[in-house]
Amino acid sequence: MASSIARRLPSLPSLPKIKAAVNPCQCGCGAVCTNRFKPGHDAKLAGYVRRVQVGVVTLEGIEEILGVGQALATAHAMGVDYTPLAEREDEDADEMEFAEEDAEKLA
Ligand SMILES: [Zn+2]
Repeated sequence: MASSIARRLPSLPSLPKIKAAVNPCQCGCGAVCTNRFKPGHDAKLAGYVRRVQVGVVTLEGIEEILGVGQALATAHAMGVDYTPLAEREDEDADEMEFAEEDAEKLA
């Protein structure tokens, strides 16, 4: 009888709990999870990609509505490069400075 033998055996020591590694959610929401996505967030990302593909929103629109993380994650999922709006404004500002310097040199 296996059950009567098991009753006579001492119980096993409890093992220390191993904490699962936490990763940032790949949808770009900023949450941490033990897998690639928080539950349901893979579908959210697929929805962002689909919306951009059919043209109902742009990556810039996703950044404005949801945030830079989701825009970058959507671009990554689509395999395209995306520069966040804040960095673009900096680039424009740099270009303006160069343009002003060039204008001063020409004058
Ligand atoms: Zn997420």
